[in-house]
Amino acid sequence: MARYASAVCRLCRRSGEKLMLKGSRCFTPKCAMERRAKPPGKQPMRRRRLSDRGLQLREKQKARYSYGIMERQFRRLFGEAERQLGITGENLLVLLERRLDNVVYRLGFADSRSQARQLVQHGHIMLNDRKVDIPSALVKEGDVIGWKERSTKTGYYQQMVPSIESKVIPSWLSLDGEKLVGRVLSLPTPDDIDAKFEGQSIVEYYSR
Ligand code: SF4
Repeated sequence: MARYASAVCRLCRRSGEKLMLKGSRCFTPKCAMERRAKPPGKQPMRRRRLSDRGLQLREKQKARYSYGIMERQFRRLFGEAERQLGITGENLLVLLERRLDNVVYRLGFADSRSQARQLVQHGHIMLNDRKVDIPSALVKEGDVIGWKERSTKTGYYQQMVPSIESKVIPSWLSLDGEKLVGRVLSLPTPDDIDAKFEGQSIVEYYSR
């Protein structure tokens, strides 16, 4: 699937917010938002106020950029959120959070969601003892996420192990720090997720 391949820091600058797309770099003074928090490109003489539609679009794009999803897949996920019972914006948030690449990121196996996606795509991650290389696979309660035996011998794994203790794992997941095996204790709720976007604005954007 096509991915956004340009400098991801531009996406933060375009959104006017730190979307934390580059792992540890986002916490350093090298962060582009710390150095130059203006939208990319030529600066207009006078900044226009965003219309309601523009604000809704910005929220939708923030959600897409944060989870690294292209428009077609995001729209499909939105459709699924709409079909579920409950509040569509919240359903969407939970569906995004249940993606396997996001769970790998949340467990601290990767510094960013794009790195987590790569780990999944390259076949390093096991879901319930089976290799799953589809980043968009959705986890469910009770699922176990671990590493392929051979992948535990890689340099990446060896240098990641000491750093895992400092990672903060969300309450809906648990992690065996010795074996580096994670478990989904329950499905996330919107309160568990530090979303950087307004789910309701996304609903309004697609409702027009
Ligand atoms: Fe965004 Fe991280 Fe780049 Fe800062 S370093 S602009 S938070 S992706």
